[in-house]
Amino acid sequence: AAAELENNNAVVPKMPPFDYTPPPYSGPSGDEILKKRSEFLSPSLFHFYKKPLNITDGKMQYLFDEEGRRYLDAFAGIATVCCGHCHPEVIDAIINQTKRLQHSTVVYLNHTIADFAEALASKMPGDLKVVFFTNSGTEANELAMMIARLYTGCNDIISLRNSYHGNAAGTMGATAQSNWKFNIIQAGVHHAQNPDPYRGIFGSDGEKYAKDVQEIIDYGTSGQVAGFISEAIQGVGGVVELAAGYLPAAYKSIKKAGGLCIADEVQSGFARIGSHFWGFESQDVMPDIVTMAKGIGNGIPLGAVITTPEIAEVLTRRSYFNTFGGNPVCTAGGLAVLKVIEKERLQENACVVGSYLKDRLKALQKKHEIIGDVRGRGLMLGVELVSDHQLKTPAKAEVSHVMDQMKEMGVLVGKGGFYGNVFRITPPLCFTKEDSDFFVDVMDLALSKL
Ligand code: PLP
Repeated sequence: AAAELENNNAVVPKMPPFDYTPPPYSGPSGDEILKKRSEFLSPSLFHFYKKPLNITDGKMQYLFDEEGRRYLDAFAGIATVCCGHCHPEVIDAIINQTKRLQHSTVVYLNHTIADFAEALASKMPGDLKVVFFTNSGTEANELAMMIARLYTGCNDIISLRNSYHGNAAGTMGATAQSNWKFNIIQAGVHHAQNPDPYRGIFGSDGEKYAKDVQEIIDYGTSGQVAGFISEAIQGVGGVVELAAGYLPAAYKSIKKAGGLCIADEVQSGFARIGSHFWGFESQDVMPDIVTMAKGIGNGIPLGAVITTPEIAEVLTRRSYFNTFGGNPVCTAGGLAVLKVIEKERLQENACVVGSYLKDRLKALQKKHEIIGDVRGRGLMLGVELVSDHQLKTPAKAEVSHVMDQMKEMGVLVGKGGFYGNVFRITPPLCFTKEDSDFFVDVMDLALSKL
């Protein structure tokens, strides 16, 4: 009933109503920005759409362009805006703190950094309670790997093929996708077989993949390692859920070799996977170090490393600090994010709405031959397109085409994966069932037009 007819008789789904109109925009047009961007910004920057979008406003699960057109945002700035764009309580916390004290350094006391650290620690299992703040996920992982190396006195780090851990020298070494790597030195980093149930060589047998970790230790190191780093669900890699049983077995080998296990929660952290607050909890493992960023600040630059008091002690061996890490504005924002997640029961929402959305996507898979796989947890879902099911031939151009079509109908979604053929669906955690219906109906129509 809530649909209108297009000229070619296809029914264009209607976006759920939303009671917000952004203030009129009088800034430069998208074309003008594009011109400046090509002259003054790095040529490495890319955009998703044939005609790039000029996004001027955001409110909860919606973004608005220069003409005030509303889009359902199913990417959330790469799984970053967890409470919703410009959530009033997060904004208030940031503004109030900015008015009072915009910056301070660690040489003075300020309560926001301590309050947020305490709140973060309360969300952690075991003895994980010492926090070090950074500005990004890359910095958090750089620090985590350095801590593991300092603590163990070893250099070797094992990460997973297809993982993404950041773009500085050390983390780019741990990242294992050629398109995200430059010709960098990655001494001491080993990449293990990826326990990818869809494309991996051992299907969904997690323990078989974990044997590769033991083999790397046996044949590629002295038998002692610094650590192991992995995402619980690979985000940039195309929303790949690690095969069940993998992490417990891999952690066992690493701990036996004296290494520390690092859980990279930069994308999966802060309630996104719904069933658990942290991604690693869904794999029933206990990491030694957890890193986070993106969602913890709802879009403000904020990252963190959390570990045990015993391990954190290694950082007292030298002077180590970060100018902006733990900035009071960012930590006040982070604290507000945690409060909103609890108050609005966003973890529960991610669980309920996420499984509803996944069921609807699975049903779509039955209708469209091109969908090779639907996977993920909570509101971290992936849809992989392949032109041949047997060969799993990546349908990359089709993903781009469908994204453009979806944008025209008012839906924004991410893409990724090693072959660029996976839709990444990581909306703000306030996404509703109505949003899910609209999203799937739009994707359905765009796929039908291929
Ligand atoms: N780790 C994971 C799992 C990520 O997805 C990312 C970024 O996408 C990073 C680390 C790096 O975070 P940042 O871009 O904030 O440096």
